[in-house]
Amino acid sequence: MSSHKIVVGNWKMNKDYHQAIELVKHLTNLISERKPLNTTIVLSPNFLYIKDAIELVKDFECIKIGAQNCSHKSSGAYTGEVSAEMLSSMGVEFCIVGHSERREYFAETDSMILEKIILLLQNKIKPIYCCGEKLEERENDTFCSVIENQLNNSVLNLNANQIVNVVIAYEPVWAIGTGKTASAKQAGEMHQFIYECLIKKYGAETAEQVSILYGGSCNPKNAQELFSTKHINGGLIGGASLIAEDFYSILNS
Ligand code: PEP
Repeated sequence: MSSHKIVVGNWKMNKDYHQAIELVKHLTNLISERKPLNTTIVLSPNFLYIKDAIELVKDFECIKIGAQNCSHKSSGAYTGEVSAEMLSSMGVEFCIVGHSERREYFAETDSMILEKIILLLQNKIKPIYCCGEKLEERENDTFCSVIENQLNNSVLNLNANQIVNVVIAYEPVWAIGTGKTASAKQAGEMHQFIYECLIKKYGAETAEQVSILYGGSCNPKNAQELFSTKHINGGLIGGASLIAEDFYSILNS
């Protein structure tokens, strides 16, 4: 089996309930009218809207609902947290972990991220693991070792049966929400690097099965070039996933 094409919409803390429902309906209408290509589409709204979103996409085999985060604890006295088990019981199939915004604003560490990944896998949810370097790390040429460390401290601790259920998103922090996209060459080099880290640990047959997505100011204009680059198996889309026509156009790239 080779890596699968996946496009994820990360809605972050945007849209009120009515707007979110409208967006799901608009997208499902576009998909049923025009039919998407051979791609898994993951919509990641706020926790509060997940139940309704799952109901709205239930007849669309290609659309899955994802969460944007989960707790690194399995259950108990952790006020305000949402567990992997809770998400699983709602029908959530994917969950973003280690997004740079969570690392930066909520002090998430690699070890917490690994705990989340293990809990998600135990609950049959596919983690979408984000890694990426900051601007100064790109500029001082340490970006490969930064990514290697992030991988070594998290997903590369998994065994082969676990890693094939993980999606990796390479998201240079300097490209997220900034309008500054990594060039296809820059992104392609990093995807190749991540793929090689996977090969080193698990061998080619297993590495081939892990989808590696690009994220960072991806839009309808640059998606095609990025997605046709070797080892880029789709995208994690923030801003452009909030507009149904733009997101649909990225899906078809
Ligand atoms: C993201 O939040 O993961 C992201 C890639 O955002 P944007 O597309 O807005 O850069």
